[in-house]
Amino acid sequence: MDCPICTKVPFDHCAYAYLLGLYLGDGHIVSKYRQHHLSISCNASQPGLIDAAEGAMRKVMPRPGTGRRLREGCVEVKSYTRHWTCMFPQHGPGKKHERSIVLEEWQQAIVDAHPWEFVRGLIHSDGCRTTNWTNRLVGGERKRYEYPRYMFANKSDDIRKLLTDTLTRLGVQWTVLARDGAPFNVSIARKESVALMDLHVGPKH
Ligand SMILES: [Zn+2]
Repeated sequence: MDCPICTKVPFDHCAYAYLLGLYLGDGHIVSKYRQHHLSISCNASQPGLIDAAEGAMRKVMPRPGTGRRLREGCVEVKSYTRHWTCMFPQHGPGKKHERSIVLEEWQQAIVDAHPWEFVRGLIHSDGCRTTNWTNRLVGGERKRYEYPRYMFANKSDDIRKLLTDTLTRLGVQWTVLARDGAPFNVSIARKESVALMDLHVGPKH
């Protein structure tokens, strides 16, 4: 077995930072008798993302078998080993937003070294790049004005904070929008910040 935690073999930190973002956003681990795997849900219409998720799994732990399963417009990308619980100690009973999500020191060190990969993983799972529009008066004329923005939707206060702390360190400005009276969406809409995100993250594909 090639689990980096159990065997101390070196592993790809860059791929791990991306995979950690995917896992915290839209992944889960199944760990029970004779059934152990990491699963990341991807939209079936985004083949680039599906390849990226499987590629990151294989870079972090090359030996376990991987597979894909199509279900209701979603592709679940899976990697079969019980050692994903070593790589993602955030695994636990219940939903992620119902328990506290804290990175271990070694995970935070990897995020600090590869912050954009982490942000990219989070946006590629629970985020998107959208176009908003508004009407503005320009020289007495009403004009439709479009602007791109990035959104990240997650119920977990801890996971949103992991994203926003990293964005702040990268010089990206953000705001949090509420849904049904509770904070839910991280929005990145300032022009310079969107440009930074376009450079390092980009839309899903
Ligand atoms: Zn292990």
